[in-house]
Amino acid sequence: MDRRQFVMTGLTAAAGTVLGACVREGTEGMQTAPRVAASNRMPVLFVGHGSPMNAVLDNRWSRALRALGARLPRPRAVLAISAHWWIDGTHLTADVAPRTIHDFYGFPPELYAIRYPAPGSSDLVARVRALLGERHAVPSHDWGLDHGTWTVLRWLWPTAEVPVVQLSMDRRLSPQSAVEIGRRLAPLRDEGVIVLGSGNVTHNLRHAVSNLGRDDAPTPVWASRFDEEVARMCAQRDALALARLWPDGADARLAHPTPDHYLPLLYAAGAAGSDGGDASFPVEGFDAGSLSMRAVLWS
Ligand code: ZN
Repeated sequence: MDRRQFVMTGLTAAAGTVLGACVREGTEGMQTAPRVAASNRMPVLFVGHGSPMNAVLDNRWSRALRALGARLPRPRAVLAISAHWWIDGTHLTADVAPRTIHDFYGFPPELYAIRYPAPGSSDLVARVRALLGERHAVPSHDWGLDHGTWTVLRWLWPTAEVPVVQLSMDRRLSPQSAVEIGRRLAPLRDEGVIVLGSGNVTHNLRHAVSNLGRDDAPTPVWASRFDEEVARMCAQRDALALARLWPDGADARLAHPTPDHYLPLLYAAGAAGSDGGDASFPVEGFDAGSLSMRAVLWS
């Protein structure tokens, strides 16, 4: 099956069929690809990144992430899945020193001056390609760490010493396929890697922008209802239920006019699996009225 055929399969077939190809290739690749050596099982994390300004502001969101980072185990590497790398295909940042991408406009100069100089990891790129299938997970030198990743990482691991690889989300695949790809990534947890999804549980930019800077902006019912539903499914570790929420769930189209900020949660929930420890919410609340900043930590 060549790449084009895989794409067509992804568009037309059920998720299980699509990822079936990945499973077979992944099994073969695991025999030869290097591993990121492992000791303890790592948690899986989803964070709400919200406004890029959270990278420079001392506010409740940045303080919460800093506190969370202080109690996380130190991973050997991070595999980050950001809402802002939503493209045709599953790609991996392959640079030795991935650049900091300032993929936003109209913000203060201090935000553009920030660099997050974490190293990349060729070992992790090879391992993820082995898990997903080498023909379907492609190394890329066209991207680096976008603001969905670095605005969060600079609070979680301020020294930028932990290697980071970003994985793109293939916008042609279904929400169920995002969960399946996450499941294929689950072995990384036992190899010292933290899988980090970065988006927002609710993300209606039109609504949020009209309330930016208003601490007292009321939270609309559709946002609180969707956020609570997601929290319940995360606590139940039911990743496929999360996938079914978009686009047909109640409030889904208001919570996410487009799915890019929701999909990182599905990758993370897939990697977290359906059994194991607790799911907790180290960050909760809404910014600008409707933007859920909920973080999910699956142990
Ligand atoms: Zn974003």
